[in-house]
Amino acid sequence: MKLSGKTALVTGSTSGIGLGIARVLAEAGADILLNGFGDPAAALAEVGRFGTRVRHHPADLGDVAQLEALFGFAQREFGGVDILVNNAGIQHVAPVDEFPVERWDAIIAVNLSAVFHCTRLALPGMRARGWGRIVNVASVHGQVGSVGKAAYVAAKHGVIGLTKVVGLETATTAITCNAICPGWVLTPLVQKQIDDRAAAGVDPQQAQHDLLAEKQPSLAFVTPEHLGELTLFLCSEAGSQVRGAAWNVDGGWLAQ
Ligand code: NAD
Repeated sequence: MKLSGKTALVTGSTSGIGLGIARVLAEAGADILLNGFGDPAAALAEVGRFGTRVRHHPADLGDVAQLEALFGFAQREFGGVDILVNNAGIQHVAPVDEFPVERWDAIIAVNLSAVFHCTRLALPGMRARGWGRIVNVASVHGQVGSVGKAAYVAAKHGVIGLTKVVGLETATTAITCNAICPGWVLTPLVQKQIDDRAAAGVDPQQAQHDLLAEKQPSLAFVTPEHLGELTLFLCSEAGSQVRGAAWNVDGGWLAQ
């Protein structure tokens, strides 16, 4: 097994992309620490079926004390974190001059500040063990903007900047830090945006098609498994000189 003996912490892994990445890493032999607000029993069953050790911790990543408790739990249960996948993320869509201040603060805390905190808490152990992988799930919105997504786009651009700095600060070590930048992936986060369009009177199938047609030339969704397999590559020896990169998996979104 490629990742046997390694422990991966995947934040926000009770649904969507995080759950898909956790599944692929577990199948490759990694022990997994899940996190997120969704149903832990379902996620534990799905990721646990490959026979590696899997635990869940419910830390709210918007709260630094809970985030530190998550790393204490990782240390006690697994002896540390070898692979950190900063995946948890939230969205809110509104024009910037109507953007609720509380939503701005929450999105910056979960989508950007938590990436900093998890990175600072994971790095000392990775340095001590002489190996590590940090994979930040950013977005195409880390490289381009879209109307209505001020906080999300600002946070994701920040994640890519942070990824470059951590990639440089670890450049002479066996620790790498990279970002992956998905286009549309059909997860609860995106389903909500389709549902909002449908609630405004658009046929749900048409709403899904319109969402893709506006941005994603392939007219097909990226899947959590695609992103899991890319994460697995970044964890491999072949990925060891990919450093500080922002890797698009976007059906051609950013080629336009
Ligand atoms: P999702 O809503 O399915 O999953 C988000 C996960 O984060 C859930 O497990 C949720 O419980 C958890 N979470 C939310 N707030 C949290 C908090 N405060 N503390 C701990 N966990 C929390 O969303 P997704 O689409 O799978 O998104 C995952 C990541 O991928 C996000 O960073 C998102 O920005 C990014 N992304 C998604 C898409 C897409 O099209 N779905 C595209 C590009 C990037």
